[in-house]
Amino acid sequence: MPTETKTTCPYCGVGCGVIARVDDEGVVSVKGDPDHPANFGRLCSKGSALAETIDLDGRLHHPEIAGERAGWDEALDLMAQRFSDAIAEHGPDSVAFYVSGQLLTEDYYVANKLMKGFVGSANIDTNSRLCMSSSVAGHRRAFGSDTVPGCYEDIELADLVILTGSNLAWCHPVLYQRLAAAKAARPGMKVVVIDPRRTMTADIADMHLAIRPDGDVALFNGLLAHLAKSTAIDENYLAAHTMGFAAAFATASSMTFTELMDRTGLGANEIRQFFALFERTEKVVTCYSQGVNQSSSGTDKVNAILNCHLATGRIGRHGMGPFSLTGQPNAMGGREVGGLANMLAAHMAIESADDRDRVQRFWGSPTIADRPGLKAVDLFEAVADGRIKALWIMATNPVVSMPDADAVEAAIRACPFVVVSDVMKTTDTARHAHVLLPSLGWGEKDGTVTNSERRISRQRSFLPAPSEARADWWQLAEVARRMGFLGFEYTTPTEIFAEHAALSAFENDGSRDFDIGAYAGIGPAGYEAMMPFQWPAPAQEGRKTTRFFANGHFYHPDRKARFIAVTPAETERTSVDYPFTLNTGRIRDQWHTMTRTGKSARLSAHIAEPFAELHPRDARELGVGSAGLVELESPHGMAVVRALVTERQARGNVFVPMHWNDQFAAKARIDALVPPLIDRVSGQPASKNVAIAVRPFSASLYGFAVSIARPASPLADYWALAKAEGGWRIELAFASVVADWTAWCRDAFALPADVEPLGYADRQTGDLRLAFFEGDRLLAAVFLARQPVAVARNWAVSQLTAEHGNLRKRFTLVAGRPGAGKPDPGATVCSCFSVGVNQIITAVRGGCQTVEAVGKELDAGTNCGSCRAEIREIVEGCLTVAAE
Ligand code: SF4
Repeated sequence: MPTETKTTCPYCGVGCGVIARVDDEGVVSVKGDPDHPANFGRLCSKGSALAETIDLDGRLHHPEIAGERAGWDEALDLMAQRFSDAIAEHGPDSVAFYVSGQLLTEDYYVANKLMKGFVGSANIDTNSRLCMSSSVAGHRRAFGSDTVPGCYEDIELADLVILTGSNLAWCHPVLYQRLAAAKAARPGMKVVVIDPRRTMTADIADMHLAIRPDGDVALFNGLLAHLAKSTAIDENYLAAHTMGFAAAFATASSMTFTELMDRTGLGANEIRQFFALFERTEKVVTCYSQGVNQSSSGTDKVNAILNCHLATGRIGRHGMGPFSLTGQPNAMGGREVGGLANMLAAHMAIESADDRDRVQRFWGSPTIADRPGLKAVDLFEAVADGRIKALWIMATNPVVSMPDADAVEAAIRACPFVVVSDVMKTTDTARHAHVLLPSLGWGEKDGTVTNSERRISRQRSFLPAPSEARADWWQLAEVARRMGFLGFEYTTPTEIFAEHAALSAFENDGSRDFDIGAYAGIGPAGYEAMMPFQWPAPAQEGRKTTRFFANGHFYHPDRKARFIAVTPAETERTSVDYPFTLNTGRIRDQWHTMTRTGKSARLSAHIAEPFAELHPRDARELGVGSAGLVELESPHGMAVVRALVTERQARGNVFVPMHWNDQFAAKARIDALVPPLIDRVSGQPASKNVAIAVRPFSASLYGFAVSIARPASPLADYWALAKAEGGWRIELAFASVVADWTAWCRDAFALPADVEPLGYADRQTGDLRLAFFEGDRLLAAVFLARQPVAVARNWAVSQLTAEHGNLRKRFTLVAGRPGAGKPDPGATVCSCFSVGVNQIITAVRGGCQTVEAVGKELDAGTNCGSCRAEIREIVEGCLTVAAE
């Protein structure tokens, strides 16, 4: 009998509900859960492709010690011994955990309990440090607690939605769809996008403010100064519920308008229009994300935004409030259990002796960390200088995602004892582990996650655990037991969640925001049946609201909010040697370091290689063609990626995605270029304002290849792999010419020695094509030229699954172009229906002049909607050309 399981998407912080269906043959399909309040049935391209990412290819099946298969007992005993030895010899601060917003709350809870309550150190930090720790710090400064005041519904109810440092269309696509639908239904709603780039999010914007990198504090200070002179200020709210307005206003108003324009890079009119819009619109929601957080002034940016909402009392009411959007599926759950090095469990403060005593009594633990531990950048510096003797990394890939990533890799390589828990056998980080532990993946693990609007949902298992993979909480509890600690006798995640809920309510008289005491007595049946719910959910009846702070009641001891006087910091980083500003971020169809989304051919077809967005004038001055390669360099590292020349990019700025790594490209770990520069309050790295040099990468030969087997690496001076239907697609470039291409192909694509190539070479143009067949099947083909190769790529990829019985078909392949009457679909735009750019252009030329008409003709954009902005751009581009 087919089964259907309600679970939650494991990617972004929207936290969409998913229904996973397993049919009689064991085939899995997914659809959005119409009853889940985060998405009401919608899924984006990544969520829709979840079933394509759950195969066991590349999975880690068994524990390994020093690269050899080991038993669980052997691995866990070794870990307990090595961690205990380090603590005995060098003290509790000589060990560290580096965990992840990908962990479930139950995993996170046990990790935090073990480190802070039993090891007695707070050296547990998480990749959420890189994502939203500035929001945490800003919330705590202003509210006295890490509280997100509003709900997703507010984004639909607002009359003005400001998106600052948030490419919502690509990074929180379902929330973007909810916003776009609300605006379509209520065209009077205004959307302002504040971003140095004109991202796809700006597609629905009434105003795009192309702010200078890190100009946000100046902009929101300017707004506060403007509001203070207007009637938008809520004097009653200020007097009753806040402190510190005068100082914040004095600091904000000390900046001249000229300085404001200079710091933001914005024109006088656009600044005035934005200020006037905010002033006259009561229902304002300001959403912010990594563009705000990933900055050396991230916490100040958050407080500059919060100041404006506090000053107008526009907080915690329908359609109003500041809104931090978290990047990861369980960043919020991690915050709830105290997964950051400077927090204690259940939103309690590590600095508070009362809170420490309370948590220690609740846990019955022998000790409790009495000061903040090492935050991510400091933690890896401590690994590098030898202070950390044993390190456990769970569900994250710091060799790719940490700033100064090459130095982080060197530190991990030199660490005396490194454990990595992961689902994949080979990652950039896992290759340096002394002990590798196989974890459960999405669909196999069981627990809870919390999304950006404080909604806790179940991730449920619907697949068996592969081989010996085990839950992360189980791994942690086993090590704790073997280290001699009591309090880790869990047998199910239900018991852990119940304990977590009980701690949230323990001696909580309303002075702590996080309270889910209603779930403290939950048993297996209740846990299994748990519906998504928003906290607070205290045990006692009474509190019904899902929003915070409309009537004050903040969490500072006097229950008042604090204005924070913030001063714009120096933001200029460029120099003569490093004249460009690098901004890193996400793309629509990949997630983090591609260990899961990189498995989907559909997702990989949208953007198949790492790229750098350059402004056309910058590209021209650099001598970079639109499909050329560029070398990017900072004092910390370098990368080689494809140039994507676009007017969407501001001059002097370069955008590069953070996903690519050594498993998918020759040299594209972009965080290797990012310096370990952090926000002084939150410790969050500044990943969006990096001074770099850009120059053309000189290649003597460019190539494109398809192969049914994953190619060996390194293949060339530049290479980038992407999963394709039936095999792999590969972009190539060579600094020097290879002497024997047939031998190179045999080696690169693991071809049988007796398979002879079909091909041609043109000495004059330098073009070379080689294809290898076995029976009716194409094994591999490579297309080489002195310029970036003009091959119908998606068509060439489709040949991996085509039959090549006759010679004519084989020669067509070698020509690199489909025959007459078989059009090339072009680069994929709509991943859900695999619709390419050429098909959309043909539809527009055939009379489809709107996104809706294209959707009717080709289905493109009619499922998840994530590609609608790109379709609109293509339609408008075609219509403009036709009109000229
Ligand atoms: S928006 Fe997309 S990636 Fe994010 S939770 Fe929903 S389906 Fe998953």
